Amino acid sequence: MNGPQKKGLAILGATGSIGCQALEVIRAFPHRFQVEVLTAQNNAPRLIRQAIEFQPNAVVIGNEALYPKVKEALESFPIKVFSGAKALKEVTEFDGIDMVLTAMVGIAGLEPTMAAIQAGKQIALANKETLVVAGNLITRLAQEKGVNIYPVDSEHSAIFQCLAGEFHNPLEKIYLTASGGPFRGKKRDFLASVKKEQALKHPNWDMGCKITIDSASMMNKGLEVIEAKWLFALKPDQIKVIVHPQSIVHSLVQFSDGSIKAQMGLPDMKLPILYAMAYPDRLHTSFPRFDFLNYHELNFEAPDTESFPNLMLAYRALEKGGNMPCILNAANEVAVAAFLKDQLGFLQMSDVIDDCMQKIHFMIEPNLQDFIHTDAETRKLALSLIKKQNN
Ligand code: NAD
Ligand code: MG
Repeated sequence: MNGPQKKGLAILGATGSIGCQALEVIRAFPHRFQVEVLTAQNNAPRLIRQAIEFQPNAVVIGNEALYPKVKEALESFPIKVFSGAKALKEVTEFDGIDMVLTAMVGIAGLEPTMAAIQAGKQIALANKETLVVAGNLITRLAQEKGVNIYPVDSEHSAIFQCLAGEFHNPLEKIYLTASGGPFRGKKRDFLASVKKEQALKHPNWDMGCKITIDSASMMNKGLEVIEAKWLFALKPDQIKVIVHPQSIVHSLVQFSDGSIKAQMGLPDMKLPILYAMAYPDRLHTSFPRFDFLNYHELNFEAPDTESFPNLMLAYRALEKGGNMPCILNAANEVAVAAFLKDQLGFLQMSDVIDDCMQKIHFMIEPNLQDFIHTDAETRKLALSLIKKQNN
């Protein structure tokens, strides 16, 4: 008997934390998955190594200055090499791709994701910023094109797993768990002087820099609240956040009869990546198993929104809708980049975001161009606010 046909995958952001873990999964299941496209922004040496190992149909290096280097290194292989933002979008449409894993960081994922959906490709979504910014456009287009969006974010994968077999049952609310990051329990007087080296030390997860800072500031959970609204069609008051420092319960669903389902396991992003890629199958893995006897306690506590106001800012953006989540996201991307360059204090990140949310022109029904415009305007304002603080 023949096995299931190999699924053709495009991995956008292949050289990052999620991209590399997705390739680890593919390496373990060569009979199930075929790499069709790999993309990266700047890490040419890693992209070249990945291309030589996985022999995709095409690669894209976003940074055009690196094109000659990648082209030359892959000259003797039957691999097409492209570069630039337009190519990042166009490669998602290639024949042979069944699913696009969006593992690039930030709003840069917006147009490639839209193009992939337009071309009818299934989406495994890690790039949460895209759904935060334009959830209405993306979910509408996906519905029109019959495209499923499979969550890769561990919390949303957990919700999705809890919903298996329950799609017709009304859910009352969901609980997204948050580790609390490296500064759990810390107050504003401590947070005022923290530096990137401290913020980059996440207790449970090893991730890219941007999401690690977002986790330390609780913005990651804020973005995930908005992401959950679009993935599961929820109202803001149906989405709760609970701090769970061990990161074993990945999230929970409460149904209308009061029953709660949780999905659990060791914190390992390979699990949600594999679930999204192999859905509806569960494939056998040799990943380490959770042992209850190693965890005598699993703790839960309320988030501290006074010390970490980002979560409230995200709820405010969600309630307001329109282009407000786009403003929140753009201001946050700029603030995080500035914090990583020691140009902005940890607490000032929230101030910049709050300021942008108050000053940028609000639109209730933005289209794609409006989102691109809002993003650009917000970046400009956020940069000028940061510059002012430094003078
Ligand atoms: P990362 O920084 O490790 O990797 C980012 C990837 O995107 C790299 O391959 C990089 O080359 C590419 N990239 C960067 N800027 C780009 C641009 N302007 N255009 C095109 N490509 C670009 O990030 P990561 O931690 O792997 O996170 C990727 C996405 O997945 C983020 O949206 C993040 O929120 C989400 N996510 C990550 C984790 C995790 O464990 N790392 C968990 C849940 C969700
Ligand atoms: Mg997450």
